Amino acid sequence: MTLKNSEKYLPLSSDIVPRYAGLATFMRLPHVPLEAAENLDIGIVGIPWDSGTTNRAGARHGPRQVREMSALMRRYHPALDISPYELANCADLGDAPVNPLEIVGTLDGLTEHYSAIVQRGITPLSAGGDHLVTLPILRALAKKHGPLGMIQFDAHSDLWDEYFGGSKYAHGTPFRRAIEEGVLDPNRLVQIGLRGGLYSPEDNAWGVAQGVHQFSIEEVDERGISAIMADAVRILGNGKTYVTFDIDCLDPAFAPGTGTPEIGGFTPLQAQKMVRSLRGMNLVGADVVEVSPPFDPGGRTALAGATMMFELLCLLAECRPKSSA
Ligand code: MN
Ligand code: MN
Repeated sequence: MTLKNSEKYLPLSSDIVPRYAGLATFMRLPHVPLEAAENLDIGIVGIPWDSGTTNRAGARHGPRQVREMSALMRRYHPALDISPYELANCADLGDAPVNPLEIVGTLDGLTEHYSAIVQRGITPLSAGGDHLVTLPILRALAKKHGPLGMIQFDAHSDLWDEYFGGSKYAHGTPFRRAIEEGVLDPNRLVQIGLRGGLYSPEDNAWGVAQGVHQFSIEEVDERGISAIMADAVRILGNGKTYVTFDIDCLDPAFAPGTGTPEIGGFTPLQAQKMVRSLRGMNLVGADVVEVSPPFDPGGRTALAGATMMFELLCLLAECRPKSSA
């Protein structure tokens, strides 16, 4: 059903309410609880949960801080010539249910919550939380779409098997689990920006054996982001694709507020250009994860996170007719 612009939810006008005033929601959109969501195309969801963090905790506070900084976003993207709120009806769906003391139970609850979102035909755009939150989102989307392709901007592959002698669910393991569970197609998994030390020389072997496409920061630096993104777009093709943006793909000079920072990362402009080159792909959802306000003096990491969410929102809004088909 096509809504007239006057029937859509819109961000609070900064001509009427100053951008620093009012309750903080994503992009200053209305908060609409899932039960009340009708004719919604894109739902923005916070996941205030970091119980999968292995080192510096704090991403549980990400959604609030990203909402706060997202007040700086405006309605029109000049580089893409996209007005997302004219293309799609968008709202802040609030925070997903979480229990900081329960890992498997929370993952099940998140799977259920996202299944309800997907069943209503809503495309989810999420703010983490640590990277483990992407696993239940993929589970829910795969129920509708089948095994998904994914592009992952990240310093880390997050394909490790376990931590601390047998813990299978951590923010370093979500995509190993997603491949094992059959919700992610390893041949259509593209990881960009990998860097930093590993635990052993064999760490990347499992992913490579599954057919995962990994681009280290060194390869991106040598070949340039245009060549790498051309490869990524070719690998992902026209199939259903999810975008996951771990804020630690950025250099810690720009995004210090994160759990496992690695130097030698992307500039924000490089990241913006890479995401923009996904325009026209068949996108079914996206997230920005690992923003950790306790390590984020001045809020610059949250600003980067909010801005990347706006970039992703523009792409999701434009391909919305495709993803709902
Ligand atoms: Mn990650
Ligand atoms: Mn990472």
